[in-house]
Amino acid sequence: MFMPGYAANVMAIVKAKNPSEPEFHQAVEEVLESLSLVFDRHPEYRSAKILERITEPERVIMFRVPWMDDQGEIQVNRGFRIEMNSAIGPYKGGLRFHPSVNLGILKFLAFEQVFKNSLTTLPMGGGKGGSDFDPKGKSDNEVMRFCQSFMTELSRHIGPDTDVPAGDIGVGGREIGFMYGQYKRLRNEFTGVLTGKGLNWGGSLIRPEATGYGAVYFAAEMLSTRAQSLQGKVCLVSGSGNVAQYTVEKINQLGGKAVTLSDSTGYIYDEQGIDEKKLHFLMDLKNVRRGRIKEYADNFKGAVYTPVDPKLNFNPLWNHKAHCAFPSATQNEINDKDAQNLVKNGVFAVAEGANMPTTLDGVKVFLDAKILYGPGKAANAGGVATSGLEMAQNSQRMSWTRDEVDKKLHQIMKNIHKAAFETAERFNTPGNYVNGANIAGFLKVADAMMDQGLV
Ligand code: NAP
Repeated sequence: MFMPGYAANVMAIVKAKNPSEPEFHQAVEEVLESLSLVFDRHPEYRSAKILERITEPERVIMFRVPWMDDQGEIQVNRGFRIEMNSAIGPYKGGLRFHPSVNLGILKFLAFEQVFKNSLTTLPMGGGKGGSDFDPKGKSDNEVMRFCQSFMTELSRHIGPDTDVPAGDIGVGGREIGFMYGQYKRLRNEFTGVLTGKGLNWGGSLIRPEATGYGAVYFAAEMLSTRAQSLQGKVCLVSGSGNVAQYTVEKINQLGGKAVTLSDSTGYIYDEQGIDEKKLHFLMDLKNVRRGRIKEYADNFKGAVYTPVDPKLNFNPLWNHKAHCAFPSATQNEINDKDAQNLVKNGVFAVAEGANMPTTLDGVKVFLDAKILYGPGKAANAGGVATSGLEMAQNSQRMSWTRDEVDKKLHQIMKNIHKAAFETAERFNTPGNYVNGANIAGFLKVADAMMDQGLV
């Protein structure tokens, strides 16, 4: 893809300064390509070296997390927090616990978060963190001991007006609970320092649902630009965690039919659709019993399970006839071949619940085919937006009703769609939500950085 002068120079610097971080390079490259359209109109950003500054984290914290397993054996993991940008508010972004976590992956996520949070219109900067700890197969007590050790160090760096982490892959209500308990004990204060909290102790209604619901609201907005709705649409969904579960729930509520789900071992295809009863089974399987997706196919007649085949250069989940796709597992789960398969099979709307689930070559396939493609930083911003609403409720010491929060979430998703859609038009690339989201998110942060001087 084309990237002229200034942006290309900054890209070269980013690659040289951050070797062996391909996901970070990928995230920066996608944004810089879009921003190339901005610098002719705004030479002041170039002289203020906004790109050089925005690609450099304000602070990176990396620490040892020692803990003891149930056998009395000492384990050592690595903990991270990337405080990327605080121009428009306290650092905000999730914590990921997964064995694949490393500095480059968290930097890509923190970088994306800066633009995403800006798009929500709420005052939140960007951050991300986590650990290479794998909660899978660990007892509740082991997870608790790990979370307590992780928070013992992290608590020195966060606070309700400084940095407010949330969940992400491997970090759900259980982990947030253990971390919140330890923070409170260490700091002797009850504040909104984490979001995704339990309802009885400062959490917000609709926060668990928000990312999935938001992705479907965003898809509905994109479809409406072509006078369509989700009614009767067949949808491919990947993942089976928090985002995937509530994506399926909202698809069902809006009259669509979800037919796939996956985890890291394989995927299920259920031609009849994943209805409310089956979704209830899935939630118990994944959130309570913490089992594998194969059990879904063992339990429901007609559903077919396909294990992951590492020899394939494509993911067969994306090779079914459908209208819409909601990648909701992890980064780079759709490559160019998958993108071609999706387009070939009739998919004309893709809303990314996951962060950067499509490779740069895959994105190009979608853009060339002129399908409705909603990139993660716009389509999955409902999660962090509702985290922002949780922070607002904590500051007011109030709780809003389910309906109130859902209405606000829905309106925020409509606003994000409008901003991305209109900005793409304003920069002469109509229908290109990648450019629209990147540029709209960037302008607000860049202007704040200009106002605040060289910091
Ligand atoms: P989650 O509840 O932990 O679920 C993650 C799902 O993705 C699981 O089904 C997991 O399968 C699968 N998965 C994870 N890594 C994988 C890999 N390397 N290969 C194949 N499958 C993999 O996490 P989540 O909160 O739903 O997050 C899913 C995606 O949404 C992530 O990209 C996250 O950054 C993004 N996101 C989340 C939120 C939020 O509010 N939670 C907000 C915005 C964006 P296994 O159980 O087998 O690992």
